[in-house]
Amino acid sequence: MLLKNCRLRDGSIVDILTRDEKIAEVEAGLEAEGVRVLDCRENLIVPGFVDCHMHLDKTRIAQETPNKSGTLNEAISISQSRKRNFTKDEVMKRARKTVEMAIEAGTTFIRTNVDVDPIVGLIGLEALLAVREEFEDRLQLQLVAFPQEGILKAPGTLQLLEEALKMGADAVGGIPAKDTSAEEHLQIIFDLAEKHDRPLDIHTDESDDPQDLTILEIAKQTVARGLQGRVSVAHCCSLAALPPERLERVLAEIRPADLHIVSLPSTNLYLQGRDDAYKVRRGIAPVKILLEKGFRVAVASDNVRDAFNPFGNANLLQIALITAHGCHLGGTDELEQVFDMISSTPREMMGLNPHITPGGRADFTILPTENVAEAIVGQVRILDRIYKGVPDGRWL
Ligand SMILES: [Zn+2]
Repeated sequence: MLLKNCRLRDGSIVDILTRDEKIAEVEAGLEAEGVRVLDCRENLIVPGFVDCHMHLDKTRIAQETPNKSGTLNEAISISQSRKRNFTKDEVMKRARKTVEMAIEAGTTFIRTNVDVDPIVGLIGLEALLAVREEFEDRLQLQLVAFPQEGILKAPGTLQLLEEALKMGADAVGGIPAKDTSAEEHLQIIFDLAEKHDRPLDIHTDESDDPQDLTILEIAKQTVARGLQGRVSVAHCCSLAALPPERLERVLAEIRPADLHIVSLPSTNLYLQGRDDAYKVRRGIAPVKILLEKGFRVAVASDNVRDAFNPFGNANLLQIALITAHGCHLGGTDELEQVFDMISSTPREMMGLNPHITPGGRADFTILPTENVAEAIVGQVRILDRIYKGVPDGRWL
């Protein structure tokens, strides 16, 4: 396929030739025989959006089972009782709708957690394995086997996690804070990740309490086991509760681990700060400082319309706008950084080509704007999306 007149983020207008699902050439004035030619009419083309942290097994249960206190603990207990009634078909139906929304909004890759525990067993996983297959021509779906109920606290979970990995889960999840021993929980999931050679994706320090710093132990384990660049830490809200000097020391300590920091502003703005009677905290990881210090930070949807967060359209431009508001990132340069957090940075984290250069997979999102700031501020509808060299065809 030859895409003519594509506007890149630096403003240049180029043609992009794709071959066998990949980018073959990027240059002005390209010609090619016997290929489909599509004219992008100088609209902006960016690498496909990556939503690197979702919970598709729980999506869309908010209306029937609302979270009245709005706290993380009530969200967990609602999910516990609701997932007793999960069936494969029902999970698939809900997940499918949210994946369709993500595609509509320009996403080409989703990494989702899936609860794996003695309550739900492997029903969520079976459902999402089927959804992954259904959508394989339209989007890449990665599954994280997630022990939401703890591992030590919920006997039988470890065996289920092993089974989930054998069945095709892509990554090992974790939530050390909700188990009886955070350290043992970490030990178990790191062992599991090493044994099965999978990346780790850990719910980390989702609180306003400056004492919650399991990120330090995660960084230590990551370095000790040589897993730098293979470990994602999601939330990291408590970092925002640290005074500047303490934060500086913590960041210096975790730096060698090369952790992928994933902030979830939509969920955390909603859940955190519930104990603050006044001067209510935002509860989002200190994204601006992390970026200034050169850490790799992505943002993602997290929960879409469930007990943790009643909102969400699986739309990363919306998440970018919420990030810009919640993290005080509004300058033109800052909006470029915000855009990186839904595009090039999570792509890099997930092992995809972060830029439009030859050799990378031909996944693109086409926006009706000249620059990325306009796309965030205007909350534009995407023109089209291309996955593995094939356009959805809604515009092109
Ligand atoms: Zn999560």
